[in-house]
Amino acid sequence: MSVTDHADSDANADTDANTSTNADLTDALLEHADREPIAFDGFRLEATDDGYAIATPATERTGLSGRDLREALADETDDVHEYASNWRYWQRMGGEGTARRAFLRWCERAPLEDAVESETEGTDDGRSEATRAVPDRYEALAADGLERQWGQLSITTRLADGSAPGERRYDLRHVDDRGADPADLEAHDRPRDARDLTTYDEKGRYRPLKTAPTLVSGWAFTGLSGDDLVDAVEFVYPATVANWHRERRGNLDVDHWLETAERQTGIYDVVDELPREAVEWMAEACCVDSQCLRRREWEYEEGDELSVDGGDGPFPCREPCSLVIAAARKWAILETEEERTWEFELTTSEKNQLEALIDAVAEGRTDEIREADVNRGANRYRARYLRAKRVDGERNLCGVDSSVDSDG
Ligand code: SF4
Repeated sequence: MSVTDHADSDANADTDANTSTNADLTDALLEHADREPIAFDGFRLEATDDGYAIATPATERTGLSGRDLREALADETDDVHEYASNWRYWQRMGGEGTARRAFLRWCERAPLEDAVESETEGTDDGRSEATRAVPDRYEALAADGLERQWGQLSITTRLADGSAPGERRYDLRHVDDRGADPADLEAHDRPRDARDLTTYDEKGRYRPLKTAPTLVSGWAFTGLSGDDLVDAVEFVYPATVANWHRERRGNLDVDHWLETAERQTGIYDVVDELPREAVEWMAEACCVDSQCLRRREWEYEEGDELSVDGGDGPFPCREPCSLVIAAARKWAILETEEERTWEFELTTSEKNQLEALIDAVAEGRTDEIREADVNRGANRYRARYLRAKRVDGERNLCGVDSSVDSDG
């Protein structure tokens, strides 16, 4: 058989497959419409005494026979085909009312079926939903796919080649790898692999907070099913899809600081003694976007909001996490210490340098400061010089002994 014969044969096979899958689609539609009308994503199909009535936002046809319907659906350029295959995909997906289904619809900017928040068309500023009508979605899904960001994850939804009409596939990678050649990324196909990717940061340090913006890049999941995509996302960011969905439905159960702190027992019993203003400092230290990608929805208590910004991420934080509770224990103990007046002799530049050091450590910038850059206060040689000059062998700044009443 010649190359041309092969091409003709493949083309015929494709045509046969399309004919078969379109026939399946029509059978499913007719079978459903004979039981009950279809009204989904702007598509309507109803069995009437006068034949089938079909409508999309752009077209309305009545008095159709089953044969007429088959012909309309066989024409893949007809928007009826797109609306019908879209209905079929979501019908196969099932799971009405579940977080899984809502998340997959969010991924392709489909209107959420059960959201209480209003949705908008044409904008995409992170939290607001830029929903799109079916033809607009299909155009993008068939081209490069529709991309959405979930924390540091980039999710691309696209139409699957050679599958049932409307079938989707999902690609998942780090946002920093958006434009990377797949050949340069480590390929994965089992959702469970995502858990291993989240354990350590790029320097090999354990990540105790899975929503910290320290997810390693350099990997890709390609061609996932909807179920596998959601599983992989939940391995990376546990419970984020469920909490996002609860919030969308208006039933996110938020536990504020005080009630969470008062619930603590054992060694954490002390955290409810953390002063009100210290809770502000704690939220600023731990819960801003630069430290955690969850959007803090908990406040000091009901009706008493913290002044620190809770962040802009798509998925909410419904209660102080274990990392924050553990840190709060330390701060609750430290805050019981009385303030004292200390006397240290420093030059103005040395005082400025101490402030620069605190800032560099708090922002995680110490690794960026080159050894040769001695103009930076947090330069390692500058820090070592200050220590040599101002800190004695007992680690006392300017020789002032504070060991008797310090908890470190
Ligand atoms: S409590 Fe703060 S640090 Fe912990 S998950 Fe929530 S927002 Fe993130």
